[in-house]
Amino acid sequence: MKAIVYNGPRQVNVEEVPDARIERPTDVLVRITTTNICGSDLHMYEGRTDFETGRVLGHENLGEVVEVGPAVDRVRVGDVVCIPFNISCGFCANCEKGLTAYCLTTNPEPGMAGAAYGFADMGPYNGGQAELLRVPYGDFNCLVLPDDAKEKQNDYVMLADIWPTGWHATQLAQVEAGDSVVIYGAGPVGLMAAYSATFKSASKVMVVDRHPDRLAKAEEIGAIAIDDSRTSPVDQVMELTDGLGADRGCECVGYQAHDPQGHEHPNMTLNNLVKSVKFTGTIGVVGVFVPSDPGSPDDLFKQGEIAFDYGMFWFKGQKIGNGQCNVKHYNRQLRTLIHEGKARPSWVVSHELNLDDAPDGYEHFDRRDLGWTKVVLHPGE
Ligand code: NAD
Ligand code: ZN
Repeated sequence: MKAIVYNGPRQVNVEEVPDARIERPTDVLVRITTTNICGSDLHMYEGRTDFETGRVLGHENLGEVVEVGPAVDRVRVGDVVCIPFNISCGFCANCEKGLTAYCLTTNPEPGMAGAAYGFADMGPYNGGQAELLRVPYGDFNCLVLPDDAKEKQNDYVMLADIWPTGWHATQLAQVEAGDSVVIYGAGPVGLMAAYSATFKSASKVMVVDRHPDRLAKAEEIGAIAIDDSRTSPVDQVMELTDGLGADRGCECVGYQAHDPQGHEHPNMTLNNLVKSVKFTGTIGVVGVFVPSDPGSPDDLFKQGEIAFDYGMFWFKGQKIGNGQCNVKHYNRQLRTLIHEGKARPSWVVSHELNLDDAPDGYEHFDRRDLGWTKVVLHPGE
């Protein structure tokens, strides 16, 4: 089959690889029709992880079931399914609590929890930027889509990751109706957090970034764009909130945070959140802060050791919630919003490409070239 293969920093190629196939009785095999490039893929793409060369990328996947293992009895051949990026078993202590991002079964590495497709340190699973994908524990992991699946594939594919993740950011931040919310990052995840906050009837949604095209997307859904290349985003939030700060804040950037001049400041968004969220306010962090480091397991979380102003965070009595999204916890309800015509998360999509053009898509998305907000790939086209 054709797939997008990682061959080293900023080198991905379209290659012929062995077909994905049913390996265990609980597996489902999916012919991928729709698969996204994600900001998380860039951690691997940029060579910041120990992702092995030769592996297939892609964790935001949708397609048609073409084969099921003998122990699969809910999902059927012909179903169109969206597949959460978390690979989870459904029966471990964490999955039973809905914490599928921390599944205790699917990551074979001792002491680790949680697995994903085409990801460093998240198990040996290949990704779905390919013609076929093997889905472990298919009955648990496939979200079967209704009869409008094909016409709304670019909406439903957002249920694999970025919409539930944006929603998760607002859950972690405890966003309620009437709240003011500041979101750092107008990438696909930040835009989905803003979208989620509007669904939760936030009174004011402020989105910080410096890319005009991404800020314009935020404005499309009624958010206030805050361009941090002009003046301090903290000052702008304070001005918009009568000097009090936002009720809630979301971090949707991660350790790759830059200043507007292009220098990396891994702690910049956390510090800005502490400053621009009110006393006793709550902060949800979905941006990734635990990049893996090649080498011994001791090195694994080293780059995650970043300093932020804990003193001010404590003084303001703020709370923080963080981590990967438990996609299954949200995706059914969000599926209904799409099916009922109440949500159209595909508004973030800027480009639709076939697999052959994916390396080009990676390059543009990685450079955050003007207009490249979210790339959807259609293998087989
Ligand atoms: P992205 O890189 O396209 O978007 C990040 C945006 O942040 C960019 O537009 C960039 O200009 C902006 N930015 C950089 N520095 C900033 C700063 N100091 N202040 C404000 N904005 C700044 O990526 P994305 O796809 O939107 O993903 C964002 C993060 O979410 C990544 O770290 C990704 O790995 C993570 N993620 C987490 C989960 C989860 O389950 N927790 C799931 C998906 C993605
Ligand atoms: Zn993703």
